Parts: sequence; structure tokens; C-alpha cells
Amino acid sequence: MTDAATLDAPAQSAPAGETILEVNNIEVIYNHVILVLKGVSLSVPKGGITALLGGNGAGKTTTLKAISNLLHSERGEVTKGSITYRGEPIADLNPAELVRRGVIQVMEGRHCFEHLTVEENLLTGAYTRSGGGVKESLERVYHYFPRLKERRTSQAGYTSGGEQQMCAIGRAMMANPETILLDEPSMGLAPQLVEQIFEIVKEVNEKEGVSFLLAEQNTNVALRYAHYGYILESGRVVMDGAAKDLRENQDVKEFYLGMSEQGRKSFRDVRSYRRRKRWLS
Ligand code: ATP
Repeated sequence: MTDAATLDAPAQSAPAGETILEVNNIEVIYNHVILVLKGVSLSVPKGGITALLGGNGAGKTTTLKAISNLLHSERGEVTKGSITYRGEPIADLNPAELVRRGVIQVMEGRHCFEHLTVEENLLTGAYTRSGGGVKESLERVYHYFPRLKERRTSQAGYTSGGEQQMCAIGRAMMANPETILLDEPSMGLAPQLVEQIFEIVKEVNEKEGVSFLLAEQNTNVALRYAHYGYILESGRVVMDGAAKDLRENQDVKEFYLGMSEQGRKSFRDVRSYRRRKRWLS
């Protein structure tokens, strides 16, 4: 599919949900000195798909890890601002407690347990749950990912990149989350598989009401499936808006969708000072 063709596809219309996750003006510092997030704010509405966009090193993963409280192991810390879920601060919750509250992160790079089978991987996702319903959840995951059912007895390490991404999302779904933080699901996957995975994300969002905060470098695909988007550059949100508006914005087309009035152009070709001047003016 060409950029022009994909841009013609209908964007999702925004859900009217209340804000469920709120990131308010956070700063993140690694190793006590490296300031990476410089006052990031964003809101995730209940039942929506929110995209966090930006190039390499913009701060997308750091934002997700700040929300999930996963920065400590990387000598990172939130030094300013606040993060709330359902109106309550979550900064002091460990990741397992956060999962019990309904928020789970699917890490970049899939991170399956490669020596376990696909089904064993999925079952580890139910670890934080109490009570029954695990079998039903497994069937639900297989309903959305029939490919995982076919591969359920295969060792995860021997499955394809797309199957591992499905397994990682399916494992997150086993925790019965209300909100999934999904880091770079398109990474390293062929375009057709990327579409397939985003279609499933959309279906899970629409049918299960799961909210998504989706970090993506693939702006084109993300803005077709998201309702709302934030664009990060060098640790700052430089633009946000309804996905359909961002798709029509000239700067976004030029720098992130590889299109310009003169023809196709990558945002990497544009000198960063010029981009920043335009974004911030
Ligand atoms: P990518 O798509 O390449 O993963 P990103 O937008 O997710 O990029 P981050 O991974 O959040 O960006 O990185 C933001 C900045 O923080 C980068 O400059 C990166 O080098 C730096 N960074 C990330 N992790 C660490 C760390 N553990 N220690 C020091 N600096 C880090």
C-alpha cells in the first residue's frame, strides 16, 4: 500500500471516554544527569487508542516506562510532575500492583520466554490474577489470535517475529487489563503483519473496551488506527491532536508520513533545527 493510498483510509473517530490515565508535566533523568523527558503531559481516554509518536530517541519508551514504574532498573527516575490512573497517583506502585489496577505494558522487542511454549507464555500473563476465568481468557486470546492457537505447543523462541508480537500482546491480555501500554508493535515486522496486528488491537479496543497507549515510530499506520496522537521530539510534546487532523497536518505529512508538496521526503532529511523552529513557532 502506498502512503497516498493509506492516507485515504478513514481515521478512527475519537471516543467520548473520560480520562483514565494522566501524565502531567513529567521530567525523567537517567543516571542522575541525562535529562530525557522535559515536561511531558498527555491524557489517555477510557476506551480510546492514543498514539505516542516520534523518531528514534524521542522519549516514547521512557514515557511508557515512567508510567509502568520500570525506570529504576535503568537508573532512571521521574524527577518532576505526576502520573495518575483513575485520578490516583501511581508513582509508588510496583509493576505487579499496577497490573492489578488494570495497567500493563507490552515491552518493545516482544520479550517472550523463548524456552516456554506459546501457551505457557500466555499463562504466565495470568500470574497476578486471583480467582478463576483463566481458561476463558485463554480462549478469548485464541479468538483474537487464531495463529497463537495453531502454535500453542510450539516453543516461543522458534516462532516468527509476528507470532512473538502476538504472543506478547496475548500474554498482556491474560491479565484482563483495562489499559495496555504497547511499545512499538510494528518493529521489525513486514507491512502486512503490522496491519494484521493493528487490526487486532482495534478489535480488542472496540469489543473489549481496552484502552491503548501506543508508542510507535510508524506514524502512518498508528494514525490510521489511533483516535488521538501526541508527537514527541527530544523529550517534549511538540504537537497533539485528533488522529485525523494530524494526518492532514502539513508538517506531519512532510516529516512523519514522508510526503511533501515537492514529493516524497523523509523527516530525517530535514535539519532538526528547522523542524524544531516550525514545530515550536
Ligand atoms: P526508540 O524508538 O529508538 O526506542 P524512543 O522514542 O522510545 O526511541 P527512548 O528509548 O525513550 O526513546 O530514549 C530517549 C532518550 O533516552 C534517548 O536519547 C536514549 O538514548 C536515552 N536513554 C534511554 N534509556 C537510557 C538509559 N537507560 N540510560 C541513559 N539514557 C537512556
